Amino acid sequence: MGEIAAMMLSGFYCEQCGCLIDGEETGYPRLCEDCARESKPKRKKTKNENAVIDSKLAEAMGYKQLVENEGYLWEPSTDMSDAWEVSERFGLDSISRNQENGTWTAVFKTNNGLIVQTESTAPLAICKAALKIIEGSKSDE
Ligand SMILES: [Zn+2]
Repeated sequence: MGEIAAMMLSGFYCEQCGCLIDGEETGYPRLCEDCARESKPKRKKTKNENAVIDSKLAEAMGYKQLVENEGYLWEPSTDMSDAWEVSERFGLDSISRNQENGTWTAVFKTNNGLIVQTESTAPLAICKAALKIIEGSKSDE
C-alpha cells in the first residue's frame, strides 16, 4: 500500500478527494468537510443487506422517527460519519485495520467487558459491535 493510501485509511487525508483534513490521524477513513457535505444528498438510498442493522441502531439512537417518517438518511453500517455517532454513543475503545487481510476490528468497552467485532469495513464492525451491546443490555433486564 502506498503512503497516501495508508494516510487516507488513517483519516489523515480525505478518502474521497485526498486533501489534508485537520492534521489529525483518527485511525479510520473519513471525508473532509466539503466531501462530507456533498456526499450526503448524492448518495442513493438503497435497501442493502444492512438495512436491518441501520434500523435497529436508528431505534437505539432515537433516530427512528426521523429515518422512517422524514426520510432522514442515516446509514451507519455503510457511512463512516454516521457510524462515528454510534461509536461515541456506545463508547468505542479502538478501531483498527488488519494490514494483511484488510478487515477492521472495533473494540468497545462496556460494563460487561470488551466487545470485539471484525468485519470487512470499519462502519460495519462498529455497527455490529454496537448491536451486540444493545442486545446484551436487553437480556440483562
Ligand atoms: Zn474531500
